[in-house]
Amino acid sequence: MITIALSKGRIFEETTPLLAAAGIHALEDPDSSRKLIIGTNREDVRLIIVRATDVPTYVQYGAADLGIAGKDVLDEHGGEGLYQPLDLNIAKCKMMVAVRNDFDYEASIRQGARLKVVTKYVKVAREHFAAKGMHVDLIKLYGSMELGPLVGLADAIVDLVSTGGTLRANNLKAVEEIGEISSRLIANQASFKLNRAQLQPIIESFSTAIKSAVK
Ligand code: ATP
Ligand code: MG
Repeated sequence: MITIALSKGRIFEETTPLLAAAGIHALEDPDSSRKLIIGTNREDVRLIIVRATDVPTYVQYGAADLGIAGKDVLDEHGGEGLYQPLDLNIAKCKMMVAVRNDFDYEASIRQGARLKVVTKYVKVAREHFAAKGMHVDLIKLYGSMELGPLVGLADAIVDLVSTGGTLRANNLKAVEEIGEISSRLIANQASFKLNRAQLQPIIESFSTAIKSAVK
């Protein structure tokens, strides 16, 4: 049995065409079903539906053979025990630093101010600011980072930005790009070696589908 770990919503939606290219069709829609294990038309393939941040964990420990996770989640996880064979080129966005419209980020860096930063991505943020030689106080949040600078919890946020609509709606501006984000196929390293005959055709179908997709 091949188990593929996915999160519902955006990742599931954008992965469905890739699975279809590999001849894999989910028997239920995770957005309406309460089931956490979803069968497919293939008796030897099942999907498990987990939180986006938990996908690498299931794959790392071999509870799933394959998984699909954002680079943001993988960078924060560290990638231990994972093989990353493919950039799927889906769920694309950017990891950015953003501040209030009226905050002068460049000036505060020049002055060597110690910034307070809220983020869900503490490891990524720590490494980014350390590489710039900036001293920051990081505060971990689990959602709605945009609120932090508006209520005095922080000077800046580190978060994913796609259209910038949420930033604009909250009087924030992006001031620095940390990196481009897309979702990656991940595989358990041991399972990849052991089940190569089963996994390789799926990976190749994904790869062909990505190359032919017009982006
Ligand atoms: P939740 O929103 O339920 O708290 P989550 O934020 O972990 O959970 P999603 O919003 O489905 O889950 O995001 C899953 C992945 O999709 C993220 O890890 C990221 O790689 C990508 N992603 C997140 N936001 C965007 C966006 N606005 N545009 C494109 N891709 C995004
Ligand atoms: Mg989200």
